[in-house]
Amino acid sequence: MSNDAVRDIVEMRPAFSWDCPQCGVENFSRAVVCEMSQEEMQELRDDHGVQPWETGHFLVKPVIVTCRSCRTECKTADYANDSESDDQETEAGA
Ligand SMILES: [Zn+2]
Repeated sequence: MSNDAVRDIVEMRPAFSWDCPQCGVENFSRAVVCEMSQEEMQELRDDHGVQPWETGHFLVKPVIVTCRSCRTECKTADYANDSESDDQETEAGA
């Protein structure tokens, strides 16, 4: 397809990618962009050591993901907490 035939414009959204441990297929899961007040944003920046000059959004990753190919369900790694927790993690992202 040549570029002349491309007409539609799509909105690009941030996503997490992961490789299925069963079949090896690369998967993508949507990231939820956190909507919050300036005060909440500052609190999160302080909690995660985000510098004032760093820009971006706080993203929430899914806790459980399902492979699009073999339908295997996996828990997502949580590097922020050593203990087992179902709390959703927030990360600084693009
Ligand atoms: Zn799979």
